[in-house]
Amino acid sequence: MPRTDDSIVATGLQGILEERIRRDGPMPVDAFMRACLEDPAHGYWQRAHTIGRGGDFITSPEISQVFGELVGLWCAVTWQRMGEPDTVNLVELGPGLGTLMRDVLRAARAVPAFAAAIRVHLVETSPALRTRQAQALAGSGCQPAWHDSVGDVASGPAIVIANEFLDALPIRQLVFDGGWRERVLMLGADGKLQFGVGDAVACALEGTQGAIAEMRPGEEVLLGALAGRLQDFVALLIDYGPAASGLGDTLQAVRDHAYTNVLDSPGAADLTAHVQFAAFGEKARNLGLAADGPLTQAEFLGCLGIAERAAKLMAANPARAGEIEAGVHRLISPTGMGSLFKVMAVRSSNLPPSVPFG
Ligand code: SAH
Repeated sequence: MPRTDDSIVATGLQGILEERIRRDGPMPVDAFMRACLEDPAHGYWQRAHTIGRGGDFITSPEISQVFGELVGLWCAVTWQRMGEPDTVNLVELGPGLGTLMRDVLRAARAVPAFAAAIRVHLVETSPALRTRQAQALAGSGCQPAWHDSVGDVASGPAIVIANEFLDALPIRQLVFDGGWRERVLMLGADGKLQFGVGDAVACALEGTQGAIAEMRPGEEVLLGALAGRLQDFVALLIDYGPAASGLGDTLQAVRDHAYTNVLDSPGAADLTAHVQFAAFGEKARNLGLAADGPLTQAEFLGCLGIAERAAKLMAANPARAGEIEAGVHRLISPTGMGSLFKVMAVRSSNLPPSVPFG
């Protein structure tokens, strides 16, 4: 059944994009993805019901509170390894419904000096989700500050967390056609959106006819902003994608918990692409940062004691034991999220590796 907000935002992005292409010519994939996600009137992130069981897709913090509690424990240990600064900016990129930060802050209370040092910063572009985050954190006792970009967060020691943020950054795609060319959206004979091949692009990768390479310019922007912090920060990035880099089209659209065609409903489906962790780590090192990992999500949560935490929670809530066990299993399943999702830490090189990387 269509949700009420769909009718407001789904009107017309397809027509707007077609008109833009008619006027300006073929549109690179990153411009298309940006319009679908971020258009101020029709973009996907303008919707209020995107994440969670009643939305289009579910994320780890929405599956089990254990996820956020263990990330909170990781934050506390990281703060200790930073030398226990009196104040620390706890920054979340793309906080969604605010569930992860809520669970992190609850877990942080186990280390009172850490809890007292925290200043919460939320980097979020969606007004609808900012409202949901404010609601989720209303009882947390913290006063979050919202920002459009991580570069706007106050200076000083920082712990940055991000779950399923990198996959939402617009990607460029190149197609191999004798040489690499920009993959674009153009209009077919029927006047409708279709993929096509645009201008030649300099790219040193080897390709075979029809191969697709993906480039993620948003990562350079994010890492550049982090590198600008110079020292005393650690960022934990959790996302899905391969550990080793490779070619292939990973752009995907998800709506109502099912895959849908990328071109079918611009603005009404979530668009994401796999993160390439090896390439991400290399970009970080090229900027003078240190990068640890990736570990699989199962390895990371296992090292942080997910089995013990789940057992404790189940013992304290026998009526919910089955649900807790099922949620935890989903997070660490070797054939699902446990191996598809990876965890990487990027840090200023003045700090030691964070747990459990070193
Ligand atoms: N971390 C949450 C939500 C993941 S969905 C969870 O695990 O449930 C992606 C989130 O990133 C949403 O909150 C979305 O609004 C936000 N987002 C997407 N692109 C962004 C950008 N360029 N800058 C800031 N936030 C962005």
